[in-house]
Amino acid sequence: MNKIAVLYDAGQAVLSTFDLDEVLQRILAIARDYFHLRNVAIVLLDKESQELYVRSQIGWDQGQDKARLALGQGITGAAALKKQPVYAPDVTQDARYFCSAKSTRSELAIPLMVQDEVVGVLDCQSDRVDHFDSETIDLLTLFSTQASMALQNARLYSLEQQRARQLQAINAIAQQTTAVLDLEELLRRVCQLIQEAFRVSHVSLFLREDHDLVLRAHHGTLTPRIPQGGRFAATQKPWSSILADSCTSMELERDLNDAPGTKFFAESASRMCIPLISFGQTLGVLALDSAKTDAFRDGDQQSLESVADICATAIQNAHYVDRVKQLAYLDGLTGIFNRRFFELRIMEEIERARRGCLGMAVIMADIDQFKRLNDEFGHVLGDEVLRQVSSLFHQQLRKIDVVCRYGGEEFGILVTQVNAEQALGVADKLRKMVEEWPFPGVPRTVTISAGAAAFPEHGTTRDELVRAADSALYAAKQAGRNRVCLGPLARRQAASS
Ligand code: GH3
Ligand code: MG
Ligand code: MG
Repeated sequence: MNKIAVLYDAGQAVLSTFDLDEVLQRILAIARDYFHLRNVAIVLLDKESQELYVRSQIGWDQGQDKARLALGQGITGAAALKKQPVYAPDVTQDARYFCSAKSTRSELAIPLMVQDEVVGVLDCQSDRVDHFDSETIDLLTLFSTQASMALQNARLYSLEQQRARQLQAINAIAQQTTAVLDLEELLRRVCQLIQEAFRVSHVSLFLREDHDLVLRAHHGTLTPRIPQGGRFAATQKPWSSILADSCTSMELERDLNDAPGTKFFAESASRMCIPLISFGQTLGVLALDSAKTDAFRDGDQQSLESVADICATAIQNAHYVDRVKQLAYLDGLTGIFNRRFFELRIMEEIERARRGCLGMAVIMADIDQFKRLNDEFGHVLGDEVLRQVSSLFHQQLRKIDVVCRYGGEEFGILVTQVNAEQALGVADKLRKMVEEWPFPGVPRTVTISAGAAAFPEHGTTRDELVRAADSALYAAKQAGRNRVCLGPLARRQAASS
């Protein structure tokens, strides 16, 4: 009667919940109470390292539950190796005994089997010598199958749960990313979604730029060792092999420690890198870091590769959108910005100048006697001169300045952080450059005239500034060309001076 009650209770415990820790604790408590044991533990086998570690225990001495036993070591290790119960009626007489609680006098270890494989051991210890008779051993062996079942159930359940969560995540990522067309925003969002859905410590996105990989976004709890925007040659580890083979790589703690330069987060103990491939082109790498060793399993890989596919497509789309946007603002002949871009940026620059006190200026430059140049040397050469003048301007100005083809042979230039005098200096530098430039196929000098107008002396709105720069350009033409002029002072300014 008693025996049946034990098995019934254990069966109920297994069925009562899917929370593995709770099930194991209940089973251990039943074993302890029915069999009057001092210490009981469920020890699991780590497949990778072939070591046994304590998953759940009652009564062990402090710190002993952190110990790891090799297969074959101790009474538990012996049971796991033999795939059979091992009994030490007097532990002081058994050379295999490994002490986990000082009071232990006899120990019984029963392997936990799933099909033909050992997954762990039920370890029972008593403070009495020869506590276990053969009937108790049989009963505990039967009892151990309940623990095996609980382990198996919980494992299947958690796999199932994980799958469901990952499927949901894939859907969410697909839905949310296709709607985001701004690349920066997209990258940020993707890192966050993946980190939450896959419960990894940190997620990073490295994108390819020329021959480098650049860290464009990351999200998580680890401490970065590289800055956002950090660059790495695509030929260096770990990228070289990922890019060459176009397949996922999983790195363990020792791989990361062997190549410390490739450890991007201080606490990283394992990493999975998945190439982002769209239309056969590798756009970058999705990297997942975990503070746990061996955190990534094969099941994760498939789901994460699906996520990487979605990300690659979304990134490609955002790239296209960027490109289309850019094309809309580029001049087809010269490759510099067009007037539409000038109109957009001048408003932004005026706003910036208004907020700060660094100033800005507009320069309008126009090629002198260009009609005659076309007439003399033909339109094809005229086009080439336009391209070269554009390129000279582009090279001569700073990255923060904006050079646009305003129309025909006229250029609109936005120069930031300058006053009127400096703007005039910039315009004159451009004028000299063109005058001295030997245009191939044009056996004479080509010159430009330019007018400059600065914020706020010559105007504080787009119309005022462009009008002032235009009238300065007109003045330069009137004064004989190949020269630069400043615009007329704005009326309120003129009145106060
Ligand atoms: P000014 O010194 O007063 O500016 O005289 P200009 O001849 O340069 O000025 P005008 O406005 O009389 O003539 C501009 C010429 O620029 C007319 C047009 O044929 C030429 N042009 C405009 N766009 C292009 C282009 O894309 N390619 C070529 N080759 N020529 C162009
Ligand atoms: Mg002209
Ligand atoms: Mg003109």
